[in-house]
Amino acid sequence: MANILILGGGFGGLMTAERLVSLLGERNGKHRITLVSPKEVFTFYPALVRLAFGDCAADEITFDLREKLNELNVRFVRGEVIKINADLKRARIAGDDFDGDVSYDYLVIAMGRRLATEKVGGFFEHAHHLLGIKAAHKFGAAVNDFKRGKIVVGLSPQAFLPVPVCETAFALAKKFAEEIEKREVSIRVVFPETIEKAFGGAAIHKKLEKVFAKYKIETTLDFAVREVGQNQIISVDDQSIEYDLLMLLPPFRGQSMLGETSFTDELDFIETDNFMRVQNLDKTYAVGDIAAFPGPKLAFMAVRQAQVAAENLAAELGGALPSKFYYHDIAAVIDEGGDDSIFLHYGVWDETLYGLKTGKMWSRMKNQHDQLWEAVRDHY
Ligand SMILES: Cc1cc2nc3c(=O)[nH]c(=O)nc-3n(C[C@H](O)[C@H](O)[C@H](O)COP(=O)(O)OP(=O)(O)OC[C@H]3O[C@@H](n4cnc5c(N)ncnc54)[C@H](O)[C@@H]3O)c2cc1C
Repeated sequence: MANILILGGGFGGLMTAERLVSLLGERNGKHRITLVSPKEVFTFYPALVRLAFGDCAADEITFDLREKLNELNVRFVRGEVIKINADLKRARIAGDDFDGDVSYDYLVIAMGRRLATEKVGGFFEHAHHLLGIKAAHKFGAAVNDFKRGKIVVGLSPQAFLPVPVCETAFALAKKFAEEIEKREVSIRVVFPETIEKAFGGAAIHKKLEKVFAKYKIETTLDFAVREVGQNQIISVDDQSIEYDLLMLLPPFRGQSMLGETSFTDELDFIETDNFMRVQNLDKTYAVGDIAAFPGPKLAFMAVRQAQVAAENLAAELGGALPSKFYYHDIAAVIDEGGDDSIFLHYGVWDETLYGLKTGKMWSRMKNQHDQLWEAVRDHY
């Protein structure tokens, strides 16, 4: 019997558990799968922009993780991993369900990103973001109270998530269409480099710029935010942009408790090989936002990486060598709410793989998140 420990209950962790259970089938009973997460709910993050704008309720985009894992016969431990001892194959957990060391034979690290708000001075005091239910509600309330002035929506350097920035700008432009026409409200999107770079090199900028222009959304490129003041953001080269309402995504990092280990890069993300195995570590995998891959960090990749890790782990359990290869490409829907919604498919490692489709159906598909979840899962 092997003890398989999965750290994190987001897209990466849950999909690894689901896939492993289905691959092991009858053999599942022979092994023990445990998933550790500090939160008992799974949140469907891609719907947070819709939540902020009152287009869905929190209970429509969350579900009980413990219940789901029970159905899968996977043990759930509510707790936070505070240390991994890779030599002894032990993880230290602090939490309600368990407090102490858990031993493992196989480890899957799926702990997502850390929001490094400390990298942008004044972020905590002045900026909104929408990287969680509470934050999305708070931003939504500020939007509802807003009457006139300058709205800035932006990505900090190394905030590897351009999709909600674009979607927030579109939602704001629709909400304030009359005020924008009367010049009472303006909306500006700010990117730290080019739009292309934010999307991992995909040439999506022409289409996006056209849609921004249609809504009179102004764009500022190459503005790397260093600091947030009460009414202005300041770049690393001391340029400034004024705002009355700010939604800014902070820089992302891996988990800082991994910073002292040998398998992380300079941003604390985990380096893996193409089988999703952590570099130089035996029987250890990493998936999702915590894995060090170029370009945006998206649920689409987290799910695919989890599937690859699960297949390779199941192969190892059966005495075979890992053979499933991860190929790094992006698929994302940017929901404009109507005909200008975009579906992008781009090969970060192979730029000849490029597809851009537009149409209302992509908006509908994104809103029916169960279908999107299944489409992503079945794509691979
Ligand atoms: C507003 C928003 C919009 C988005 N839009 C899209 C989109 O349109 N399309 C798309 O594909 N992706 C989108 N994403 C990105 C997508 O949600 C992420 O890429 C995805 O959630 C990554 O999955 P993950 O499992 O790696 O991390 P997460 O989903 O963040 O899960 C990480 C898990 O680890 C747990 N954890 C953290 N620290 C510890 C610890 N110390 N010990 C134990 N557990 C821990 C967390 O509680 C969580 O359960 C969006 C994200 C946001 C926030």
